[in-house]
Amino acid sequence: MSLQVEEQASLLRYNTFGLPASAQCLVHVHDDDEVRAALRLALLRELPLLVLGGGSNLLLTQDQQALVMHMQSRGRHIVDDDGEHCLVEAQAGENWHDFVQWTLQQGLVGLENLSLIPGTVGAAPMQNIGAYGVELADHFVSLDALHVATGELHQFDLGACRFAYRDSLFKQQAGQWVILRVRMRLARHAPLHLDYGPLRGRLQVMGIEQPNAQDVADAVCAIRREKLPDPRELGNAGSFFKNPLVSLTLAERIRQQHADLVAYPAGVGQVKLAAGWLIERAGWKGYREGRVGVHEQQALVLVNHGGASGSEVLALAEKIRADIRQRFAVELEIEPNVR
Ligand SMILES: Cc1cc2nc3c(=O)[nH]c(=O)nc-3n(C[C@H](O)[C@H](O)[C@H](O)COP(=O)(O)OP(=O)(O)OC[C@H]3O[C@@H](n4cnc5c(N)ncnc54)[C@H](O)[C@@H]3O)c2cc1C
Repeated sequence: MSLQVEEQASLLRYNTFGLPASAQCLVHVHDDDEVRAALRLALLRELPLLVLGGGSNLLLTQDQQALVMHMQSRGRHIVDDDGEHCLVEAQAGENWHDFVQWTLQQGLVGLENLSLIPGTVGAAPMQNIGAYGVELADHFVSLDALHVATGELHQFDLGACRFAYRDSLFKQQAGQWVILRVRMRLARHAPLHLDYGPLRGRLQVMGIEQPNAQDVADAVCAIRREKLPDPRELGNAGSFFKNPLVSLTLAERIRQQHADLVAYPAGVGQVKLAAGWLIERAGWKGYREGRVGVHEQQALVLVNHGGASGSEVLALAEKIRADIRQRFAVELEIEPNVR
């Protein structure tokens, strides 16, 4: 099959922020051979590469003088089943939420708390996606990736991926790897993680006393639908800032002024602050400046009210960062990949 290539293609409908930007060359790839062919094309045209999944963690601030490789590979299956645990594998272009639902239909427990995270399976390792007390690394086994410079196929195990909070080797070495497929180990029976956020309360409201994994997934979906803006209605990329890690001393200093500071233990001498709390406390929640703003219910989410550019979003983000730095002496880090 010949490669599906579009020249000067609009990326507007390929990023959940709904930002205008074009790709010099947009290539839709469906399998490993097409990925390799697209890499050869990039080399031939001397274009840098941008791998694109669902575009839900991207902030496009300009036209992309690049070959944009849109991952559309499909396929998921159980590789190994010992009756108690299964090794499952999914191709990079699979929709993450559909994949999670599929694992639940197979009677597998583990990914339910990660329901409804937008995007693809191949992007999940990039920032070690996480929600409601669970992250990809908790179930990750290995992945296959192509090295962009050499075209060599590598397999990465858990340790090699250097997963951390919203971080990985692949995020640190952006543009150097194309993740082709991911493998995870899931159990037929395992304890559920119900202690994070409003999960238990929601299950109670749903009248469920002894939840199974599908119940937890349903509760997670309900909470997310309620509190996060749907990108189809309001452009956004989810959390715009990471929760900052700060010293215990700094956290204590902030707490002296703000007794309700939201902070979680994060290793010796360090705590993780809730970035949303800092932004809300600084008065940014619901703020609007022209076509961009901060979501009314979720201070961590920046939104495109319609027709905004990536630079406008970035300018607002910089204002917020400067304000938080000045008020709390805390440095906020942008979560989406800025291009
Ligand atoms: C409403 C909303 C809620 C969200 N909630 C969460 C949440 O709870 N937890 C969370 O962790 N994230 C969350 N996100 C962020 C986002 O959904 C995840 O980061 C997701 O994994 C991004 O997937 P994607 O396919 O859209 O990646 P893209 O945005 O397409 O790409 C993200 C980055 O990964 C690279 N990339 C993509 N695919 C590959 C590949 N196959 N190989 C190599 N590099 C690749 C891209 O080049 C880019 O740098 C949310 C986003 C939105 C819009």
